[in-house]
Amino acid sequence: MEYKIYLSPPHMSGREQQYVREAFDSNWIAPVGPNINVFEEELCAYTGSKHALALASGTAALHLALLALGIGLSDVVLCQSLTFVATANPIVYVGATPVFIDSEPVTWNMCPNALEDAIRHYIRIGKRPKAIIVVHLYGMPAMLDEILYLCKKHDIPLIEDAAEALGAEYGGSKVGTFGTIGIFSFNGNKIITTSGGGAMVSISPEYLERARFLATQAREPSRHYEHHEVGYNYRMSNVCAGIGRGQLEVIDERVAQRRSNFQFYQHYFEGIAEIGFQTGIAETFSNRWLTALVIEGNRASPADIQTALLAHGIESRPVWKPMHCQKIYETLPRFGGSVSERLFERGMCLPSGSNLGEAGRELVARIVRSCF
Ligand SMILES: *Cc1c(COP(=O)(O)O)cnc(C)c1O
Repeated sequence: MEYKIYLSPPHMSGREQQYVREAFDSNWIAPVGPNINVFEEELCAYTGSKHALALASGTAALHLALLALGIGLSDVVLCQSLTFVATANPIVYVGATPVFIDSEPVTWNMCPNALEDAIRHYIRIGKRPKAIIVVHLYGMPAMLDEILYLCKKHDIPLIEDAAEALGAEYGGSKVGTFGTIGIFSFNGNKIITTSGGGAMVSISPEYLERARFLATQAREPSRHYEHHEVGYNYRMSNVCAGIGRGQLEVIDERVAQRRSNFQFYQHYFEGIAEIGFQTGIAETFSNRWLTALVIEGNRASPADIQTALLAHGIESRPVWKPMHCQKIYETLPRFGGSVSERLFERGMCLPSGSNLGEAGRELVARIVRSCF
């Protein structure tokens, strides 16, 4: 489908092709090379993390994070239910069991109370959870203080799925750097892109070293090809890292543009009582990757609004369908209430690209308003 306005299209800075050309000129057309090293360094500098590993995707980064933490067969991993399926699938890749945790209604992320219930339950039955995966949905920081308190108290590592949240902050520090391991995605629809790609960050070099080893086919140091473990081919290409370098140079602008879209929509819909937004908690800063709404009342449903936008060639999306409602995961254990289900039923995402422009968002907002 060709849209006139896309939900979250790529937005090049113009500098990407220079770094891609350097890759061609130096013939580093491979999953190693200078662009990768610089991209990893710059990602560390931007996020304030100690170490970074550029990878083929955010999904690969989550898979390696679980492996680096030694999670395997029939281990319990507590996972935010309201998210994209790529958060949960890697738990199954390693043979562990996802247990889904509902959201709280403020940030829409993992509810600390439901999380605590789940931790207590699994400790009581002698199956201490091996990890917690929290998501910063649509770039909105989760309630990290409460979640980190529980992680510390019960000695459970935290994986931050910051795939959508590069540039978002909690208490003045970038999200992704609070957990034992954090991951980012550079898929085509994310706030910056390498066409496809991801990264893992951690303050502990041993996790990154372990992930780097597994990402390069678990090749033992030896002259010949020696393997003692099953590995993966998960590294980022030096060509893609060139795109990433050009993108990372303008990340602050991209965050400002996305936040400006959100502020515009919020202001425009002030008079419509039925429209609510994903709100943050104090001392946090969302990158507003996507502007997400909830539509209350019965004047218009999210589906009505999506239909009206589609008639003008405008792409919009429902809020993620919770994992505990998905066919593949509906029989698995879950904790908490129905906040995530309600957000799925009443929520939607508006076009939020950093290249949307004044005219684009004006048109979107006018069509949405006409539904009420
Ligand atoms: C995009 C996304 C991922 C997966 O990242 P890819 O780079 O597409 O593999 C994981 N989690 C969330 C929340 C995402 O939005």
